[in-house]
Amino acid sequence: MPQDTTIYWDGKGQAPPIIDSLPLYQRQLVLQAVDQKSWESYTQHTFVYLFLCLGFIFFSILALYSNKVTKRRERESQSAIDHDLNLFNEGATSTQVLTYAGNTLNFTANILIAILLKHLPYFTALNPFDRDRFIHRLQNFIAHKTFVIHDESGFKEMPVLISATAIQLTFGLEKYLLPNFNVIHIFPEEFIGVHPTIRILEGNVSGNTINLSWKHFLQGFQFPGDGLHVGLHEMAHAYYFQYFETNEQVDTNFVAAFPAFNNYGNKVFEQEGKDGFILYSGYALSNFQEFWAESVELFFEKPAAVKIQYPELYLTMCKLLNQDPMLV
Ligand SMILES: [Zn+2]
Repeated sequence: MPQDTTIYWDGKGQAPPIIDSLPLYQRQLVLQAVDQKSWESYTQHTFVYLFLCLGFIFFSILALYSNKVTKRRERESQSAIDHDLNLFNEGATSTQVLTYAGNTLNFTANILIAILLKHLPYFTALNPFDRDRFIHRLQNFIAHKTFVIHDESGFKEMPVLISATAIQLTFGLEKYLLPNFNVIHIFPEEFIGVHPTIRILEGNVSGNTINLSWKHFLQGFQFPGDGLHVGLHEMAHAYYFQYFETNEQVDTNFVAAFPAFNNYGNKVFEQEGKDGFILYSGYALSNFQEFWAESVELFFEKPAAVKIQYPELYLTMCKLLNQDPMLV
């Protein structure tokens, strides 16, 4: 078979340039073959285009469907968590919102332990003595707060897990009651803050209140180790204020150790983002208060990463909070 036949057959219905030099019978054979090839090429192309179109439509439908399924799964996992929690409406003192005085809640140690074992690995890892101490502090903390749930129904996990976050953060410290913040507002989702500007919030600390979006608070428990925990973040703001801006329940060891954190924090500010190390968000580097709050989140959520990247800062935080999450 001559070489240019191959070229010809690759010509997709085009007659080869040598056709004029061929004998008549061969020319006719070639032209017949060209016609045949043109038709094949046409049908082949049409088939390919049709196939591609059908493929595009198929994958578009598949993408839409899988997106829908993912969203539904997200919703289902969210509602599965909700259904798994313990509803409680009885005892609320208001009909507009559910308001609970913490000293009337009287959660037994068994109820608290069941909730903590289910949701808080930090508690599960404690030895029996420290578990008792944790429960005692938790009951005391809850009794000192008022919980305002801005929804038609609430869960027992709301006061328990929010308070447990405060106990976890200060478990190595002597003073943990946070009396300046006697009201904790719980919103189902993001809420609007008006001071100093109108903005949408997942959590904040304002006046005598700690305000949290329950949806975002729960994500701190659903996705441990991602460095995000709005509960720890807001508690860090609250304790800083309590220890430095009030005269009540001030933990003197914390106050004495804080300058060292400040000192290493400044070094982290300089180092962060260089040599490919990025641990903090841009928001954390915008001001020192946010740096402190995000440091607490990272300390509990990503202790190994903090220790590797900023060992001095990690040790300083261990001293400041008198605990080491990597040893729990
Ligand atoms: Zn903050």
